[in-house]
Amino acid sequence: MITSDLHMHSTYSLDGNNTIAEMCEQAIHLGLTEIAITDHVEWPPNGAHQRPDFDRYFAEIEENRARFAPRGLSLLSGLELGNPHQHRAEVDALLASYAFDVVIGSMHWLAGQNIHYPRCFDGQDPYDVYARYFGEIEQMAAMVDCEIIAHFDRIFWPGTNRFGPPEIERIATPVRQAMRAIVEHGRILELNTRFLTHTPSWNDALLTVLRWYHEEGGRFVAADSDAHRTAELGRNLAVAQQLIEAAGCTPYQRQVEVTAV
Ligand SMILES: [Zn+2]
Ligand SMILES: [Zn+2]
Repeated sequence: MITSDLHMHSTYSLDGNNTIAEMCEQAIHLGLTEIAITDHVEWPPNGAHQRPDFDRYFAEIEENRARFAPRGLSLLSGLELGNPHQHRAEVDALLASYAFDVVIGSMHWLAGQNIHYPRCFDGQDPYDVYARYFGEIEQMAAMVDCEIIAHFDRIFWPGTNRFGPPEIERIATPVRQAMRAIVEHGRILELNTRFLTHTPSWNDALLTVLRWYHEEGGRFVAADSDAHRTAELGRNLAVAQQLIEAAGCTPYQRQVEVTAV
C-alpha cells in the first residue's frame, strides 16, 4: 500500500482550502505515514508573482511536525514551482533562503497560456502543443534542482476533453527525451492521481509514458494526490499503484525516520 503523498496544498496556496493541521489529521485518518505540504510559487504571465509567506509557513510546519510525529506522521516542508526554468534567478534565491524538504517543478504555462484550459490549443495542432509541452518539461528537468517533476500528463486533460485521448506514439520522441532528462538529472517522475478516474480517460497513454520512463532507466514514481482540500487526499491511490507497477516501477517513498512513542 502506498503511504506517502508528497504533493498537496494548504491555505498557504491561493487555491488551498484546509490548514496544514487539517491535512495532517486527514492523512493520519487515511493511514498515510509521510506527507509534504507543497504550496504554490507562481509567476503568472499577466499577473503578480505569488508565493506563501514562508516565514509563517515554516513556523507552522515545525509546530505541526512536533504535534503529529508521535502519531506516526512524517511531515515534510515543500513547494510547487510553476515553470521554474523560466525564473531561475528567483528560484535559486528562494531555494537558498529556506531548507525545503521537497521541491516540485510543474508546467502550468505554455506560451503565455494556462495549460489547464482548452483554449491553450486555439489555432494549433494539438500534437505540436504536446511536443512543446514535453520539450519544456525536458528543459525544467535539466535546469532546475527539483526532486519531483509533477503531473507530466496535465496537458492531456484539456487535450482529451477537446480532441479525445492522445495517440501517444505520435509524440514518442519529445516524451522520451523528457523522461530521459528526468532520469539523467536524478529527478523523480510524479504520477498525479487527480485524473486517474476521469472520463474520457487517457490512462492508456499514461501507462505508455510510465513504461518509457522505465525503459529510460526510471525506477521510482511518486503517487501524489495534489489535494487542495482534505477530501481529495488519498484519491485513486489503488489505480496509481496498479499503473506504476504495470510499468515496472516502484512507488516512491522518502523513508524519513519518524519518532513514534
Ligand atoms: Zn500543479
Ligand atoms: Zn499542485
